[in-house]
Amino acid sequence: MSVRVVDGTRPSRRHQVSRVPPRFDLTLSENPFPPLPSVLRAVHMTLAQANRYPEFLPRRLPSLIAGHVGVRADQVVVGSGATGVALQILQTLTTPGKEIVYSAPTFDGYPIMAEMAGLEAVPVPLNAAGDQDLRAMRHAVDRRTALVVVCRPHNPTGTVLPADELKAFLSDVPARVPVLLDEAYVEFLGAAEYIDPLALIAKHPNLLVLRTFSKAYGLAGLRIGYAFGRPELIAHVSKLQLPFGMSAAAVAAVAASYAAEPELAARTFRITEERDALRAALMARGFAIPESRANFLYIPGPGTVTALRRAGIAAKSYPDGSARIAVGDPSADHAVLQALSTHAR
Ligand code: PMP
Repeated sequence: MSVRVVDGTRPSRRHQVSRVPPRFDLTLSENPFPPLPSVLRAVHMTLAQANRYPEFLPRRLPSLIAGHVGVRADQVVVGSGATGVALQILQTLTTPGKEIVYSAPTFDGYPIMAEMAGLEAVPVPLNAAGDQDLRAMRHAVDRRTALVVVCRPHNPTGTVLPADELKAFLSDVPARVPVLLDEAYVEFLGAAEYIDPLALIAKHPNLLVLRTFSKAYGLAGLRIGYAFGRPELIAHVSKLQLPFGMSAAAVAAVAASYAAEPELAARTFRITEERDALRAALMARGFAIPESRANFLYIPGPGTVTALRRAGIAAKSYPDGSARIAVGDPSADHAVLQALSTHAR
């Protein structure tokens, strides 16, 4: 299948606000489920002590996450969402004037953060299937490259790089160039697509794996993200850890979420089922939609965003009229199908 994906990333920090609130806002690849009652209770209890500061530098949160991931606490750095951690990585591992290599389009945060860190962006277009072109990315790495970002699954297409291709790429990139493997949507992957990150970081001292509680864990509003890698690299990134920078609610929310893994996994499963059903229905109506393994679908334009907007559905838009929509809410998914059935190509 050939999917033309047009780069829609604009390095602007301005957020566009529409005057009429949409019926469904699917712009931000959020989890449609509100926090579990057990997670809400745990967070609520910390609020009763909100007159107290959290830890000066986070210790409990990294060690909680490390225990879950299977690494040592000094191999984890936490921050304000994956975005906060990624910015900290850019600020500690790169210097202004150097280059950052990523696919285009990608998560909007990367062009924005590249600009903030004074880096020159080297955007590498996606291939015809809507996936990251690792060969072209490897070619883009040169003396000036300070960081390479690879997403698995990728945003906005949801595609998943084959494990062997990613491994070959990691072996091929010079060891002096840090690689950020963005796994913001890793919990939505099937078992067959999952790669053991511990084996990867054991083999590649220049690799950092980035994850978040914003997506499958449904805690985007609490801003909790983390990265893990070899202790030396993490020590470097931790140098810019903001004192008192993680709220006490973060530790409580993560502990309660880990205790509720089966319930969360059931939700994740429902989201992926909804996603696959909507994709199949849209494909049957002629849309060439990349095979997404995340909690969103990329629906190629032209006119897709407009057709959705007319039906009261806000989507992330791309310059050629293509849309990315968050999935998982059955009524929103139904509305998307209705809106695009009349717009079928
Ligand atoms: N990486 C990717 C690929 C994303 O899509 C996002 C959010 N859209 C993030 C990182 C950042 O997520 P957060 O800061 O909410 O953890």
